[in-house]
Amino acid sequence: MRRRADVDRLRRLMRQVAACRACQLHGFLTEVRPVTAEAREARVLVIGQAPGPVTHREGIHFAGPAGRTLAGWFEAAGFPSGAAHKWPTLSAVWLTSLTRCFPGPSASGNGDRAPTSREVALCRPFLEEEIRVVDPDVIVLVGAMAVRAFLGPIKLEDAVGRRFEQDGRAVIAFPHSSGVSRWTNLPENRTKVERSIALLRAERERLVDTDAPSVNILSRGWQHDS
Ligand code: SF4
Repeated sequence: MRRRADVDRLRRLMRQVAACRACQLHGFLTEVRPVTAEAREARVLVIGQAPGPVTHREGIHFAGPAGRTLAGWFEAAGFPSGAAHKWPTLSAVWLTSLTRCFPGPSASGNGDRAPTSREVALCRPFLEEEIRVVDPDVIVLVGAMAVRAFLGPIKLEDAVGRRFEQDGRAVIAFPHSSGVSRWTNLPENRTKVERSIALLRAERERLVDTDAPSVNILSRGWQHDS
């Protein structure tokens, strides 16, 4: 049976996320501002680590430099421009992350603080429900934290460039796209990223070939008025 998002349920979920104060109540954050999105259909779901400062400010997942890099990967995989996101290629996908509130800067001053495992656990029910209601065909994991959260204790270099499958969905891994990580400095790791892009392209082509209603989303991008 063709997968499709339950848009009404997704809308209700986004309202619950917006009202969440769990990390403040548990003393992890002094300010919480959960990032949500307008409920809509999407066949690909992207899971990052946590909002960065630009995402926190603008209230749009992957609004900062990490989004620009991610959009470049999707563009290289043939995803079309849409009108709903700061980086239009990302309009065709549903963006989310392990946690939805900016964790603040890291103690070292190099990038953002990684959310603790407890913060990730507090936010995980939202993510699980999001996966259930979007019901994507493809899940893209961005960064080592997201990779480990879904694929278990695996090294990033053993995950990027390979296709995994969970609950009948393709799972494709990428490194963290913020630019803080030096992981992609190694030529062999850049080759693995190219392989992940090729896997993403193959999944997109498979969806366009086999699932006519997705053509609007995957060939032309998602538009506000669609
Ligand atoms: S990160 Fe998630 S669990 Fe924590 S306050 Fe924000 S929405 Fe709630």
